[in-house]
Amino acid sequence: MGKPTGFKEFERALPKKAPVANRKKTYNEFVQPYSDDELNRQAARCMNCGIPFCHSGCPLGNVIPEFNDAVYDGKWEDAYRILVSTNNFPEFTGRICPAPCESACVLGINRSPVAIEEIEKHIIEIAYKREYVKARPTHLKTGKRVAVVGSGPAGLAAAAQLIRVGHEVTVYERDDKPGGLLRYGIPDFKLEKWVIDRRIKVMEEEGVVFRCNAEVGKNVPASELQTYDAVVLAGGSTIPRNLNIPGRELNGVHFAMEFLKQQNKRVGNSAFEEADILATGKNVLVIGGGDTGSDCVGTSNRHGAKSVTQFELMPQPPKGRTEAMPWPTYPMLLKTTTSHEEGCERHWSIATKEFIGDDKGNLKAARIVDLEWERDSLGRPVKFSEVPGSEREIPCELVTLAMGFLHPQHEGLLEQLGVERDERGNVRAQEGEYQTSTARVFAAGDMRRGQSLVVWAISEGRECARKVDEYLMGYSELESKDAVFDYA
Ligand SMILES: Cc1cc2nc3c(=O)[nH]c(=O)nc-3n(C[C@H](O)[C@H](O)[C@H](O)COP(=O)(O)OP(=O)(O)OC[C@H]3O[C@@H](n4cnc5c(N)ncnc54)[C@H](O)[C@@H]3O)c2cc1C
Ligand code: SF4
Repeated sequence: MGKPTGFKEFERALPKKAPVANRKKTYNEFVQPYSDDELNRQAARCMNCGIPFCHSGCPLGNVIPEFNDAVYDGKWEDAYRILVSTNNFPEFTGRICPAPCESACVLGINRSPVAIEEIEKHIIEIAYKREYVKARPTHLKTGKRVAVVGSGPAGLAAAAQLIRVGHEVTVYERDDKPGGLLRYGIPDFKLEKWVIDRRIKVMEEEGVVFRCNAEVGKNVPASELQTYDAVVLAGGSTIPRNLNIPGRELNGVHFAMEFLKQQNKRVGNSAFEEADILATGKNVLVIGGGDTGSDCVGTSNRHGAKSVTQFELMPQPPKGRTEAMPWPTYPMLLKTTTSHEEGCERHWSIATKEFIGDDKGNLKAARIVDLEWERDSLGRPVKFSEVPGSEREIPCELVTLAMGFLHPQHEGLLEQLGVERDERGNVRAQEGEYQTSTARVFAAGDMRRGQSLVVWAISEGRECARKVDEYLMGYSELESKDAVFDYA
């Protein structure tokens, strides 16, 4: 434990952010680093709990008290070594993870939790500066070849692990650059793309081969996968939930990903064929109250929207924990993101009934209605009805539908491979095993578990790699997240 009285002496503090007016002018990240003293104080708040609930809150099983301690003592190489023993890409999670570890932090019972995510980001950025992060190609060669389909965090984590134990790894990616939703979903103002390029370079130096513009099941036949000893399917959950109401076909109604992907391509100077989707000068309506919706809000404000409104079907979540979400569970609380801070009207318990267009087929308004929710004994919303007489129209010229994703694309890759799917349409493979119904074929990340988080994708990629390694070699030296680490 760094400083036994740290948690009593210091309050949680997050790094400063650039002023809203400045950050809306660019797509750059705007969270500034801690000063050295502040980083030390934040690490000092960790109590090195006898039972560190932060560990179990983290899907990767990050060894948090140990790296907090190393940061407090300024032992940067130790901190880095401990951090990457469970997480291949802390530079991603340190920027965009919703930090379930912090929700589980013991200090969070009656104080603000330790700023674990920021500490993680500082460790990895310091490690890059000090050149601790470098390619470590293995001399061991097993002669086994593995194909990874999809280069999001799940595919990248699987590839990074498999190359370490001497397999030959090729990653197929249908987009022009690797990264999955890290590159073409999450906006640059949350994660600048040089952060991905920097990591891809290390992986390439270790021997991972990336084949971009290669969609397996389309311009690369799925039969090519038969030439590999094992295959990891990590194609994500890419089919968005639609809102099939009158007027859906109007110009100006788009899936969130059409809007966000195009903007990330614009920032990254990547070509796209579709017509521009711009919020500039428009009243924007974002339908869906989650992270994807929030990213549409931030992007619309950077385009220079006239107004930005976000609707959510569910009622407004509580500001603090309730009986239904006790510590240390991950609570579904009201979340005000940095994008919301930049300007957005938010409304809950609203359903959209129709999109209304002008005589040229362009969207001009949405007809909406208020909802009333019935709740169960724990206060959870269970059933809604429309509030009589509350129907009204609101002007909007751009709508983005951010209501989540249903399942992976079936057409092409999955149909050609003939892998079994579960009742939700995801690839069927048991958690912890990752083996699909087809021999030699494994699945990880959103393609298997459904729409989730980057931290879960990395966790599944790592665990799946271990299962692939066991399948190929009969044993594996790759760490399991359940392993006990000894850093004494
Ligand atoms: C807009 C948005 C914002 C988000 N923000 C956050 C956030 O802030 N924090 C967080 O933790 N999570 C966030 N998420 C969720 C997170 O991005 C995903 O859970 C995560 O990226 C899933 O990783 P994955 O590797 O399973 O799939 P993906 O990241 O979806 O990657 C799958 C890749 O496979 C490729 N692919 C698919 N089929 C084929 C094929 N047949 N051949 C070749 N390539 C193929 C795709 O092109 C894609 O690049 C967000 C999601 C969205 C949509
Ligand atoms: S639960 Fe919080 S205070 Fe306890 S060890 Fe983990 S980070 Fe430190």
